[in-house]
Amino acid sequence: KISIVSILVAYLAFKWIAPRFDPESLKGARVLVTGASTGIGEQMAYHYARFGAQIVITARREKVLQQVTEKCLSLGAQKALYIAADMASESDPDKVVDFALEKLGGLDYLVLNHIGPTPFAMWEGDMEHTRWLMKVNFFSYIQMAWRALPSLEQSKGSLVVVSSLLAKMTNPFTLPYSSTKFALNGFFGSLHHELAMKKSNVSISICTLGLIDTESAMDKVRGVTKIPAYPATEAALNIIIAGATRQLDLYYPWFTQVVHIMKELFPWATNYVIQNYSYNYNP
Ligand code: NDP
Repeated sequence: KISIVSILVAYLAFKWIAPRFDPESLKGARVLVTGASTGIGEQMAYHYARFGAQIVITARREKVLQQVTEKCLSLGAQKALYIAADMASESDPDKVVDFALEKLGGLDYLVLNHIGPTPFAMWEGDMEHTRWLMKVNFFSYIQMAWRALPSLEQSKGSLVVVSSLLAKMTNPFTLPYSSTKFALNGFFGSLHHELAMKKSNVSISICTLGLIDTESAMDKVRGVTKIPAYPATEAALNIIIAGATRQLDLYYPWFTQVVHIMKELFPWATNYVIQNYSYNYNP
């Protein structure tokens, strides 16, 4: 019989044999982080800097990127460079990867993290916004990944994709955003199979995050939900470790995995809680 104790023992054994994180492995690592002017991306840039990595960061606001790179250098980055780019453009995703490849001489980590701003509101049929968001949050990711793959293949590198619990379970108020994240999980989960079948050197990490206390997220959900928010700096460190240890899946905070399992096991009950207890909504 399978008991709770045997499941727990198997889980602990799996954790024990899982690769350990060696901070030294990031010394001199060549990293490109997108969406790094604020939020989790900015925190990832600072962690990589403390580990002595060589970093290229990107987002749209040049002035802010400049300040982040200066801080990265003061924290210990071997190199810190920035390139301003708009991920809604068809050419900028390639331009950014080419810049990083040229300046760093190759890539060990491509960390795809940026998202375009999107309203936290009921879907009112805004197709233009949804198409635009798909370009920023999805098409640019797959374009950059494809461009960087040959270099990652050479370096036995890693592709890190920052996703969300909203890519695992549906919710109200974030339809376009959630759709882009479902698309990412579908694409990169499938790419993982193809790379494994081709015996590729490149690892993929898909990071499922719960609510994180970044300014942009908090501005949207303040007073609307009581779901607890977790620190961006800790989320950032967990993402970096998932990439460095070549884990396919990260759940942060840990209970997002439990929430996902509950949704699979008890969809009716989970939907009831989402619709009636998770948000302050009075039509
Ligand atoms: P932020 O809104 O704080 O940061 C978004 C980043 O993307 C900024 O650096 C922004 O910079 C950049 N960006 C926005 N639009 C564009 C564009 N058109 N082209 C290029 N860059 C752009 O996001 P978070 O830190 O909160 O989220 C980071 C990741 O974590 C995302 O993938 C998100 O889905 C995921 N996540 C976050 C959660 C949360 O609660 N915070 C929960 C679950 C997942 P600029 O404006 O300068 O362009």
